[in-house]
Amino acid sequence: MSVLIFIDTADGHVKKASLEALTYGAKVAEQLGTTAEGVVLGAAGDDLASLGKYGVKKIHHANNDALNAFDAQVYTKVLAQVAETSGAKVIVFSNNVNGKAIAPRLSARLKAGLVSGAVALPDTGNGFTVKKNVFSGKAFANIAVSSDIKIIALNPNAYQVIAGEGNAEVVAFNATVDAPKVKVTGVKKASGEVPLTEAEVVVSAGRGMKGPEHWGIVEDLAKTLHAALACSRPVADAHWRPHHEHVGQTGVAIAPNLYIAIGISGAIQHLAGVNRSKVIVVINKDPEAPFFKAADYGIVGDAFEVVPKMTEAIKKLKGIA
Ligand SMILES: Cc1cc2nc3c(=O)[nH]c(=O)nc-3n(C[C@H](O)[C@H](O)[C@H](O)COP(=O)(O)OP(=O)(O)OC[C@H]3O[C@@H](n4cnc5c(N)ncnc54)[C@H](O)[C@@H]3O)c2cc1C
Repeated sequence: MSVLIFIDTADGHVKKASLEALTYGAKVAEQLGTTAEGVVLGAAGDDLASLGKYGVKKIHHANNDALNAFDAQVYTKVLAQVAETSGAKVIVFSNNVNGKAIAPRLSARLKAGLVSGAVALPDTGNGFTVKKNVFSGKAFANIAVSSDIKIIALNPNAYQVIAGEGNAEVVAFNATVDAPKVKVTGVKKASGEVPLTEAEVVVSAGRGMKGPEHWGIVEDLAKTLHAALACSRPVADAHWRPHHEHVGQTGVAIAPNLYIAIGISGAIQHLAGVNRSKVIVVINKDPEAPFFKAADYGIVGDAFEVVPKMTEAIKKLKGIA
């Protein structure tokens, strides 16, 4: 019996969301009086043994060329083999894009109960109950899982990464890998940007900016805060900004520590993707804008005056000329 954590990588580097899953999985193992083990598929550029500082004792590494490109079906089959070998009774994923693609497949394959979107450690006092977000973060549900094997997909940014000390034993895993059914013909990467789903700080703007030519002040603020850029849906639909920046119900769901919304009204469909942010700051010239009801801090004012002043003040605070 063990707790197995899927360690998601990008270009061989462990994603921050996986560090959260590792810390969380190690804590679950402690609760259950067992050990935590990790699994990495494909080539790894990071020192895997050092992941022991997040509480895992062992890392299974299936370093097979066929696993270098993500394929949910192939990954699921390999993870099922690792789960069987390690005798995993709890399997932890980050509820990120890859986690969302694999966890339900693995759940069906292993006949394991799945809680996706978990936000807290399981209650193991009487059974096994996991708290998760429902209705786009408007409410919580406590899900009791009674299957022999349990799968938890942890919401990004819902659990703090804690690094201690120690190294993990890295064991090569000789997996039977199917030929991929999906062929990746090309990858187009956005460079020099903070990835939206991993960002601690997000600066987002909406139709209140009037047009794409005014985004300079938004970008300036984002750069000063080392933040990722986001936008409301109409902005992406109008091609003012690229679609990968669109957040909300039909866009990317995020949970940064700080979300700054500029000239965004705060429609329910927008809030659905951002209301898990820890602190929300709203800048809007309309004091009646619905977003103020969800805000921790609000500035009623014209974005074209407020945003440059804010950037200037932050630069001064940071000692940037
Ligand atoms: C099925 C469905 C799914 C949807 N999914 C999404 C989604 O995923 N994400 C999303 O964002 N929307 C989504 N929408 C659209 C959503 O309902 C809203 O229409 C949209 O969020 C509004 O975008 P906005 O706030 O940028 O624009 P607006 O509603 O036009 O608001 C602009 C705001 O800017 C303020 N403003 C104007 N000028 C200034 C200024 N100079 N300074 C400061 N403030 C100013 C205004 O007071 C106003 O509050 C969806 C809608 C539907 C029906």
